[in-house]
Amino acid sequence: VADNPEAERRRFQEASEADASALSGLMAQADDQAKAILEAHLMMLQDPSLIEQVEAGITAGRPAETAVESAVDEFAGMLAALDDPYLKERAADVRDVGRRLMAALAGKPAGLRLERPCIVVAHELGPSDTIGLDRSLLLGLVTEQGGPTSHTSILARTWAIPAVVLPGITGRVASGDMIALDGDAGNLLLNPAAEALAAYEQRARQASAQAERDLAEAELVAETTDGHRVELAANAGRPGDVAPAMALGAEGVGLFRSEFLFMGRQTAPDEEEQYAAYSEALKAAAGHRVVIRTMDIGGDKAVDYLNMEKEENPFLGVRALRLCFRRPGLFRTQLRALLRAGVHGKLAIMFPMVGSLGDLRSARRELDDARRSLETDGITHVSHPEVGIMVEIPAAALIAPHLAQEVDFFSIGTNDLVQYTLAVDRGNPDLADLYQPYHPAVLRLIDQVVIAAHAAGKWVGVCGEMGGQPIGSLLLTGLGVDELSMSPSRLPKVRRLIRSNRFAELERIAREALTLGTPDYVTQLVEPLVK
Ligand code: PEP
Ligand code: MG
Repeated sequence: VADNPEAERRRFQEASEADASALSGLMAQADDQAKAILEAHLMMLQDPSLIEQVEAGITAGRPAETAVESAVDEFAGMLAALDDPYLKERAADVRDVGRRLMAALAGKPAGLRLERPCIVVAHELGPSDTIGLDRSLLLGLVTEQGGPTSHTSILARTWAIPAVVLPGITGRVASGDMIALDGDAGNLLLNPAAEALAAYEQRARQASAQAERDLAEAELVAETTDGHRVELAANAGRPGDVAPAMALGAEGVGLFRSEFLFMGRQTAPDEEEQYAAYSEALKAAAGHRVVIRTMDIGGDKAVDYLNMEKEENPFLGVRALRLCFRRPGLFRTQLRALLRAGVHGKLAIMFPMVGSLGDLRSARRELDDARRSLETDGITHVSHPEVGIMVEIPAAALIAPHLAQEVDFFSIGTNDLVQYTLAVDRGNPDLADLYQPYHPAVLRLIDQVVIAAHAAGKWVGVCGEMGGQPIGSLLLTGLGVDELSMSPSRLPKVRRLIRSNRFAELERIAREALTLGTPDYVTQLVEPLVK
């Protein structure tokens, strides 16, 4: 309860004015489409009935925050209950206005904007915060939360931006401090002395010299000394990631995380915008296969404007296909955009978080419906792109022989497969030592998936981070995986490793790894092959 309604009213007015001026500032730089959205937000912010409701709450003795929250809830709830689909969707805008107001009340700007080249230090950064950052100004990320397979880390790796997790760091740095960051070692120097700084700069120069050598080797294929080929592909988050990956020698895109197109913005991209993005990715791959995964929203990838229910366990909740089945309109739009874009290259469509044959069949049915709707509308599209699934839920791995009959390929998502098999949250730094991709339980699941795929004559890839790690890439090659898809910066090293080993030896070692009892034994077994 607030004891001074007058002060609360003033706080609300100041927050509202601060946000209005921030919105006007954004509008000055926005394109037409974004401008229209920002204008609508400004109008909502100044809507007399919303203001009246907040002020009534304050008069009734509530603090400004509570008054804003309940007014926004009521307003958004009312819109969401309407039949008109357009007005219904405006509920998300009202909630967004509410979120901005709450941020302004807390004295924080909503959304992070970089003004000069800098390292961002934050307690936690969600992927939707990260995707909105200006990459040309972002030199590094330091957070207190997150593991190496959290999506913010994955984005940073894709962009080759050093990212380090250091609990307690936000209490030790101030804006304007100088930071030297070593993403490979996970180290950070705060206000370094001249000598230490010089050593870091020397390392940075060596890294860029290595990057030039890597580009020169991009034409080589990943073939073992006894002639076994593995396809090396890249993971991408945005169409612009594809060309640099191809320059590093990627033979295609093994995982395009389409959900990133939905993040760092106020509304979902429509069919035209998605069509343009997928077409751009396909063209950039110049005839090589691009596996576009349908949106994997949920888990650590929440999207505010979709008004998703708050869940106790989002990684076990309404994520990926589960969300798509609940929002058929959203899914249909994406599938139509994909089928249309397919004419511009070699498209493969992949469904995430498949846990049963039922999931796969429902997703395929939605794809058939999308195809039929394009036929009815007379719109050019591809009819039968390759269709595959992510194998990232242990249940899917265990019924792989059945799933293999109904797909063209599998891609094993080890990031999730590890967390679900070992019951270890992939984003919790406190559990980092329990997150073990080389746990024999995980290896046995992967082995079963590879055997099932090959028995059905289908190819199988790995698109989790494990495939880009030295030990992981050799083990997976030995297990018979056909394709490894990874952050582009990992390609050169993995290619060198595969080219310096014998397949017969990798096979033997992988078979032996399956019989071991601990991840440490597996690591000790493979380490001598990592030169
Ligand atoms: C995975 O789970 O391994 C994967 C590649 O998908 P994501 O990291 O986006 O969950
Ligand atoms: Mg996954």
